[in-house]
Amino acid sequence: MPIDDFDRYPLTFGPSPIHPMERLSAHLGGAKIWAKREDVNAGLAYGGNKTRKLEYIVPDALAKGADTLVSIGGVQSNHTRQVAAVAAKLGLKAVLVQEKWVDWPDSVNDKVGNILLSRIMGADVRLDPSGFGIEFKDSWQKAIEDVERSGGTPYAIPAGGSDHKLGGLGFANWAYEVQKQEEQLGVFFDTIVVCSVTGSTHAGMIAGFAGQDRPRRVLGIDASAKIEATRNQVERIARNTAELIGLGRELRDDEITVLEGWAGDYYGIPVESTIEAIKMTGRLEGVIIDPVYEGKSMAGLIDLVEQGEIGKESNVLYAHLGGQPALNAYSGIF
Ligand code: PLP
Repeated sequence: MPIDDFDRYPLTFGPSPIHPMERLSAHLGGAKIWAKREDVNAGLAYGGNKTRKLEYIVPDALAKGADTLVSIGGVQSNHTRQVAAVAAKLGLKAVLVQEKWVDWPDSVNDKVGNILLSRIMGADVRLDPSGFGIEFKDSWQKAIEDVERSGGTPYAIPAGGSDHKLGGLGFANWAYEVQKQEEQLGVFFDTIVVCSVTGSTHAGMIAGFAGQDRPRRVLGIDASAKIEATRNQVERIARNTAELIGLGRELRDDEITVLEGWAGDYYGIPVESTIEAIKMTGRLEGVIIDPVYEGKSMAGLIDLVEQGEIGKESNVLYAHLGGQPALNAYSGIF
């Protein structure tokens, strides 16, 4: 069924803004770079890409009579912070399993940034020692059972809202939003650059753009340092989402591109190119990006433009997916 026919619970302000990054483009001396800003897409705890995904997941939770959203992520998960905000707005409870996805030597890691915001918003935050992994986790199952045992009705939202049948819809819709904004701006974005970890942001975009007449490149930049897992996840969710929105054909392999090279060795650990990208974007544009996700995708964009892999004539759209609250847990770097 077409994307417009799915139930959507409005949580964002509307279309997220697009603007040119003029000084960054001039500095790199190649393609014209634009940003579409999911970091300012909502008034709910700083918004971000998950708020958009949740617009399509919430109607299902409400239809099922849920009173508690149960989700999982790292200690500095942006996703769980957005689940906490949405639960607060809807008058639901939130139980959040926060795993030790990152071994970062900052003693405030589990006290500031995203986890602080989730606590402020009243979520039941549960620290868990398990390491990075986007697969199904026992701790999450246990949290779901805990809610049931205490008489509640849980609604399970997987890491990043990705491994959920409706998880790709938010960014399939984003692709159609971009098409409308292009008409208003009089520009065509031939290349999209997006960070990819749990996969449904990139996957949704692929499915949404595949239904449009004019082909373009949708380049995912892996930030998990587990490239095969990311590729598999993006491919599976893109194919499911394409079917869900009635694409009417199989996605071609060349429509699914996840690039490696900027994640470093570990999820959540920034490398030199990440920190350079954060400083460059801050100093040339006054735009803040984070060391876990957007700093890595911006490092990829910078290299691809500098190497001419993205040509001089291109209009590139950088999807800024949010994530700045985590910066507080990385203050030592700067
Ligand atoms: N950027 C930010 C700020 C995020 O919070 C996430 C979440 O994981 C991503 C990028 C990656 O998106 P996805 O998990 O849908 O691949």
